[in-house]
Amino acid sequence: MPALVSHPDEVKVISRRFGMGAADIEKYIELDGYKAVQQAIANGPAWIIDTMKASGLRGRGGAGFPTGMKWSFVPKVSEKPKYVLVNGDESEPGTCKDHVIFLHDPHAVIEGTMIAGLAIGSKLGFIYLRGEYRYLLKIVEKAVADAYAKGFLGKNIFGTGVDFDIITQTGAGAYEVGEESALMESLEGKRGVPRIKPPFPAVVGLYGGPTVINNAETIANAPHILLMGGEAYAKLGTERNGGTRLFGISGHVERPGVYELPMGYSLRKAIYEVAGGIKDGKKLKAVVPGGASCPVLTADEIDVGLDFDQMGKAGTMLGSGGIVVLDETVSIVEFALRTIAFYQHESCGWCIPCREGTDWIKKTLTRVYNGGGSRKDVDNVQYLAENMMGRTFCPLGDAAAMPTLGFVKKFRKEFEEYIDGNRAGTPLITVEQLVGAGH
Ligand code: SF4
Repeated sequence: MPALVSHPDEVKVISRRFGMGAADIEKYIELDGYKAVQQAIANGPAWIIDTMKASGLRGRGGAGFPTGMKWSFVPKVSEKPKYVLVNGDESEPGTCKDHVIFLHDPHAVIEGTMIAGLAIGSKLGFIYLRGEYRYLLKIVEKAVADAYAKGFLGKNIFGTGVDFDIITQTGAGAYEVGEESALMESLEGKRGVPRIKPPFPAVVGLYGGPTVINNAETIANAPHILLMGGEAYAKLGTERNGGTRLFGISGHVERPGVYELPMGYSLRKAIYEVAGGIKDGKKLKAVVPGGASCPVLTADEIDVGLDFDQMGKAGTMLGSGGIVVLDETVSIVEFALRTIAFYQHESCGWCIPCREGTDWIKKTLTRVYNGGGSRKDVDNVQYLAENMMGRTFCPLGDAAAMPTLGFVKKFRKEFEEYIDGNRAGTPLITVEQLVGAGH
């Protein structure tokens, strides 16, 4: 089990049970577990949704959509069953925060799923884990079984006359199914490619029924919010960005790990104080602030607050909270190539701008990286990425284009150094070794 990290600036809401053995249902109950769902049953759907709206909680998967509002979009009356779908397909490179929730506090996900179900009038929730997290499935399945054994799930939960069931599922290792409509396709047993929207899942979702889909961290926040009150949770963060969130800080820092910080916390402090600064006294070169799809920030651009709005104003995104720190030794050309190779491999191939764009960018950057490129190649990479933006069925096209644009616009000189043959330390390994044979 990975060691837990801690820092005095952390505000522990969602992580307050980490390391306390709360995967055990008795411990979870001792630590206020399953109280919030009983409050939710007593107070009803309108109270749940109002509390979630007051909390200012925005989706922690990356899009940042207000959770209470999302739940309120589900029609009250539906001929088809309604569903709650927990997106635990955490696949964004640099992101590892849902993982620690499933590991240390799986009942919070279960309780949050039940609360979301009560809010929208659903009797069935699904918890979908990424294929590579299969080893966490045992922990989650045991937690679900224990909740059934206690009478917290199933028929007549807590003796209240309310029914609620949960089914667990794993993916097969495709990044693309992190997209909500592809996730539903996968759960229905089909190939995980996105659906054309509208209709949106809140109206026509899983098996054609109204569906709320939330990231695992978002869902696991719900019990805490109901217990502490929406306003109290909102006050922990900034305006329009309520509460705290888990940030996975990785790369060249002294103390990498998952930290819970208030929304709006300084990115500079997160790197230099919380994560202990740049490893081995080296200089900071760049930061990918919210998972691989977020445009890069240079070392001069890190005086920014970690919330959706401030990061947007800084020209990047809060994304999935995966902060990847790069020191002065990192080749941005290599990093850009590794990034596009990932997206090219994960593209489902359905739409041309994504399928062809990622492939051509990868080929062109491979040439540049190997010292055989021309100045025109950098322009072509930028042109290709710009023409992917907003022209694909699902967000993967943008997710591949945005970091590429950031790299070539902010570090163009470095690409030109490779092209001009002036780059010290020309790579000794082959590109096949770098990005994986067969990609
Ligand atoms: Fe598939 Fe890429 Fe198009 Fe998404 S953007 S549907 S991953 S080809």
